[in-house]
Amino acid sequence: MMIIIMSPTATKENLKKVQDKILKEGLRYHLSKGELRTIVGVIGDKKIISGLQMKAFEGVEKTVQITEKYKLVSREFKPEDTIVNIGGVLVGGGNLGIMAGPCAVESMEQLLESAEAVKARGANFLRGGAFKPRTSPYDFQGLAREGLEMLKAAGEKTGLKVVTEIVDMNALDLISEYADVLQIGARNMQNFELLKAVGRSQKPVLLKRGMSATISEWLNAAEYILSEGNYNVILCERGIRTYETFTRNTLDLSAVAAVKELSHLPIIVDPSHGTGRWQMVRPMARAAIAAGADGLMIEVHPHPEIALSDGDQSLTPENFSLVMKDVQNMMQVMGRE
Ligand code: PEP
Ligand code: MN
Repeated sequence: MMIIIMSPTATKENLKKVQDKILKEGLRYHLSKGELRTIVGVIGDKKIISGLQMKAFEGVEKTVQITEKYKLVSREFKPEDTIVNIGGVLVGGGNLGIMAGPCAVESMEQLLESAEAVKARGANFLRGGAFKPRTSPYDFQGLAREGLEMLKAAGEKTGLKVVTEIVDMNALDLISEYADVLQIGARNMQNFELLKAVGRSQKPVLLKRGMSATISEWLNAAEYILSEGNYNVILCERGIRTYETFTRNTLDLSAVAAVKELSHLPIIVDPSHGTGRWQMVRPMARAAIAAGADGLMIEVHPHPEIALSDGDQSLTPENFSLVMKDVQNMMQVMGRE
């Protein structure tokens, strides 16, 4: 891919000529309109792109050849942080998305109790799975449509935006009716047909890192979504598989700094799946904010000891309060708020 950086003084006509030339060569483009300048990302046949002489065009400041496969998600293409707007709630560019709630929706009582508890403590999103990708087919699989209805009702009652996982592209319309954010889980990070399907929708997407995905593979997965036209993507670091067995996964907080360097997309951290141990959620949440994360995903259950899934890593509402206090303090220390 080639990135064409237009000069701050380039006119609409200058840009139009560049766009026409790209289309005439049988190539495609995406525009990134910054405050100062417009950046044109050219995609298509590599050979044709390398032969393009765009510097000769008026209004073109410079061109950059990108060697990484991902382009639209890269900082080169869009230097400013992306801020995803979820029905008026912003995530990215200094705005924190705090997504909290149970691993799975179990009942209306359980969900509403969780929603009210996390709302009262400062969360702005309610999380909860209605379709659960479980390791064993004999484990609780989720309440499906019924769970979605409960999520919507709890979201409306508390004013929280709803995040829930999509595991099957055929359920896209159904889930879109009930949720504000579509979560793609670790197990589906490279389900390319699913990525393309959510890319064709305009619903915000929370893309979790695959349990053995490199940062490059993860950003390429995000690229699938953007390349279909959906720019509303939030990344979520949730730990990767290593040889360590004390924790469920190894939470890779260095991914926050890496993604901030490589991409303009917001990134949040999930210390619940990242550690698998409720005792470690609070310190790792604090560290995530210190590393520059744009938010957190945290499992909270009113009674973790009877949770149908992930009870070991779920916080009680009281412990979630402590996390939220830490987040506030950390933001203040960093002069972020
Ligand atoms: C979840 O968020 O409940 C979940 C299943 O997470 P992950 O895809 O990261 O394992
Ligand atoms: Mn879970």
